[in-house]
Amino acid sequence: MATHIDPVCGMEVGEDTAFKTLYKGKVYYFCSRQCKEAFDKDPERYLKGGPRGMPHH
Ligand SMILES: [Zn+2]
Repeated sequence: MATHIDPVCGMEVGEDTAFKTLYKGKVYYFCSRQCKEAFDKDPERYLKGGPRGMPHH
């Protein structure tokens, strides 16, 4: 099974269980809805700055 790095918290997430969002034609994968919502609010922050870590991990 393919895994992806959650761009918000840096966790590895499995494709089947991940929350997904489409941004600029690319799919991003998240460990949780909180991470997805954080990314949706400000995608560039995570794409430029890298994973920040989230309090719920
Ligand atoms: Zn996450």
